Amino acid sequence: MTDTSRVFQLASRPDGAPKPDDFKLAEVPLPALQPGQVKVRNTFLSVDPYMRLPMTTLEGVHAPTDIGGEMDGGAVGEVIESTADALPAGSFVFSPLMGWRDLYVADARAVAPVDPKLAPLSAYLGVLGLSGMTAYAGLEYVLKPKDGETIFVSAAAGAVGMVVCQLAKRHGCRVIGSTGDPRKAALLKDRFGAEATINYRSDDLRAALKQFAPDGLDMYFDNVGGSHLEAALDSMKVHGRMALCGAVELYNSGNYRQGPGNFFAAIEKGLTLTGFNIGLFAGKRPEMMRELAALLASGGLHGDETIVDGLENTGKAFVDLLAGANVGKMVVRL
Ligand code: NDP
Repeated sequence: MTDTSRVFQLASRPDGAPKPDDFKLAEVPLPALQPGQVKVRNTFLSVDPYMRLPMTTLEGVHAPTDIGGEMDGGAVGEVIESTADALPAGSFVFSPLMGWRDLYVADARAVAPVDPKLAPLSAYLGVLGLSGMTAYAGLEYVLKPKDGETIFVSAAAGAVGMVVCQLAKRHGCRVIGSTGDPRKAALLKDRFGAEATINYRSDDLRAALKQFAPDGLDMYFDNVGGSHLEAALDSMKVHGRMALCGAVELYNSGNYRQGPGNFFAAIEKGLTLTGFNIGLFAGKRPEMMRELAALLASGGLHGDETIVDGLENTGKAFVDLLAGANVGKMVVRL
């Protein structure tokens, strides 16, 4: 009997905000295990804003997915069959691509072992995974915060943002966080180290930044792009630094590759704008993991998660993520 996997395919290109029926759950045959391969049953799947990018027809690092093509993304699962000595059945692995499905077969070298004793498995998709390392790299290697500086963080209560806020606070920075949700604003203050919060749905961003940082911002960690980036450009101090991480405001706009209208402010103020993607910091992965895992274990870092149950709810979880339903990292539990 052939094994099968249940995997989501892209059913239609979303026009604006995605809908659950833009994704279709299909049953596909699993290939037979070849030497040096593992068969994995996923335990947790990641949903991330970047997954919206290949649903467009725009070329970029995330090439467009064909209609009917399989969705991919991060996942953590248990090896249930193995022809690779290094990863016997019963071990747990991370795959950057084999998400949005229950079972898969892959080369052992395409997955990475994870230790369930060090942290809960879901953490390898969040605070000890893509999100935590993105926060760490953007703050520690790009912005290099100093005690007493003021930092503005957008999408501050999300997977990346909450880690940035907490790490910046540990450096002695004054943290201003934005969110569209009052419940998240409260968590930002009570749990993630923000001194001030801005609700971008109800507050005027520029006026609020003026109020909370009357002398201007030293740093901006940009997860949102669009109107947030424009407001931050206008609010930076001379020689301020920006880490350009993402642009979630633009992902449903039809052109996520567009820039800010007031870019000239960067010239006038001598700003340093550093775009980055976490793939560029692969060599720093062991150091980032070590630091983040130590902080998590000591209670010096909260790794909040929003957990959705059931493979069949993956499309809806992704839709809800972009609509802001998550606090911290959104994962699907199988
Ligand atoms: P989050 O957990 O922050 O989830 C997305 C959040 O974005 C939502 O919860 C919502 O929060 C907020 N949001 C949605 N629409 C808007 C909008 N129009 N304006 C403002 N906020 C909005 O996601 P991640 O932490 O995983 O990702 C954050 C950013 O980091 C994204 O831009 C992502 O693409 C980027 N990223 C970049 C990486 C890199 O290597 N450069 C790697 C990983 C992520 P709220 O309720 O507050 O509105």
